[in-house]
Amino acid sequence: MTIEIKQHEAAKPIPLNETFEAVDWQEGQPLFAKRIKIFPKRVKGLFRTIKWWFLGVLLGIYYLLPWVRWDRGEFAPDQAVLFDIASRRFYFFDIEIWPQEIIYLVGILAGAAMGLFFVTSLIGRAWCAFGCPQTVWTDLFMFIERRIEGDRNQRIKLDKGSWTFKKIRKRVIKHALWLVVSAGTGGAWAFYFMDAPTLASGLMHLHAPTAAWITVGLLTAMTYVMAGFAREQVCTYMCPYSRFQSAMMDKETWMVSYKADRGEARGKHKRGTTWDNRGHCVDCTQCVAVCPMGIDIRNGMQMECINCGLCADACNNVMSRLDLPSGLIGYDSLSNVERRSRGEAEKPFTLLRVRTFMYLAALSIVASFLVSSFMLRKDVGLSVIRDRNPVFVMLSNGDIRDGYTVKILNKSRSQRTYQLEILGLSDPMLEETGHNTGFQPSLQLTVAPDEVEDFRIYVRQHNSDLHTTQTEVVFRLLDKNGDEAIREGTQFIGPEK
Ligand code: SF4
Ligand code: SF4
Repeated sequence: MTIEIKQHEAAKPIPLNETFEAVDWQEGQPLFAKRIKIFPKRVKGLFRTIKWWFLGVLLGIYYLLPWVRWDRGEFAPDQAVLFDIASRRFYFFDIEIWPQEIIYLVGILAGAAMGLFFVTSLIGRAWCAFGCPQTVWTDLFMFIERRIEGDRNQRIKLDKGSWTFKKIRKRVIKHALWLVVSAGTGGAWAFYFMDAPTLASGLMHLHAPTAAWITVGLLTAMTYVMAGFAREQVCTYMCPYSRFQSAMMDKETWMVSYKADRGEARGKHKRGTTWDNRGHCVDCTQCVAVCPMGIDIRNGMQMECINCGLCADACNNVMSRLDLPSGLIGYDSLSNVERRSRGEAEKPFTLLRVRTFMYLAALSIVASFLVSSFMLRKDVGLSVIRDRNPVFVMLSNGDIRDGYTVKILNKSRSQRTYQLEILGLSDPMLEETGHNTGFQPSLQLTVAPDEVEDFRIYVRQHNSDLHTTQTEVVFRLLDKNGDEAIREGTQFIGPEK
């Protein structure tokens, strides 16, 4: 099946295949489309309310989170969420991620991707409509624009009008407010990487680090340009996700669509006249006027549509004024469109299908891995690197000595002393170089709180007790109670046997 979509009024329709992928560029179709200015009209309704809620909650979290304090003890930062670049840590409330544990961040990103794929396969571009930063900030900028310059018709008039004092005043106020929001956005981003109150004071008194100024400057410029000017162009031309997310959808995915079987044949309607032999669409174009992407949903599913539902709100308001049932535009699946065209009953929304089940299964696997590895997470880390040169040394008494670098990671907030011993050799003796410890069956190694420390360790073994050239051994640390804290395998190398 082929669905016709429009890319802009200047462009010819691009055919989509059954999974909503653009089939190909067609001869004669322009490669460049000049931007058509969009002046979305204000609308009230369910989807608009949901969008306001998402905007309020998401922006609230973004701006306020760096100011939340979290007591972690004397030597740790008290910011609840902090990417501490200087000490290479990520703090999230009680969780502290070390660079060695980057796998957790990878897991969180993989889980978020799976969650996104799952939602997209269910209800299309819900992320684009409600959660994407581009949408959220564009909505905020449009709100400011509407407060200063008025609703759609006033903005169109102002835009087309000459540069009077009134126009200049409105434009200056609008851009000044946009810049304030942009600077706040850039500042808030930098607060996630440095202690927020300290950085805020540094920025106010002009003694913040250069990196902070660059970050704030870049994010300010980016927010101003993306939300103030680029807007829907980002979703249509820049965002890679908008291009490949159709691969997650199928005929059962619910997306905002126009019920052509109910709406057509469209046309103006005079109050009091019959609705027989015509559709419910009165061709008022309110659905087009409110669309932030500037498209007409009645032309079918289109690549630009972000599924925000504002056209549904506008149409529902029209339907209510005409005493007609709502839902001429609303969430619907392609398979229901086909069923209705065949005169069959609609199928209710199905949550679990092969596709959604697969995404849910992948999400569950990633989530269980994250939860279980977090529950089993230790506050000590150990890595052992065997010396490559020399591989071993034969001592004057005939014993064999291998050298190792042992790294111990103490993730706790207190100094810890661990007992290091080695398993797999019959009578191993250990020495910490440079500390005159002499060779002992085990060593006591002390590590400062929240630190990684390197120890140079020699291991000695009687040559006669070695039965192979390469013996598998295990280094293990015992805590102060004598319980095993962690272990790491390596080899003890001796002469040819
Ligand atoms: S067509 Fe409707 S759902 Fe799609 S972007 Fe426009 S207003 Fe939003
Ligand atoms: S708002 Fe509804 S009635 Fe008006 S043009 Fe759009 S689909 Fe037709």
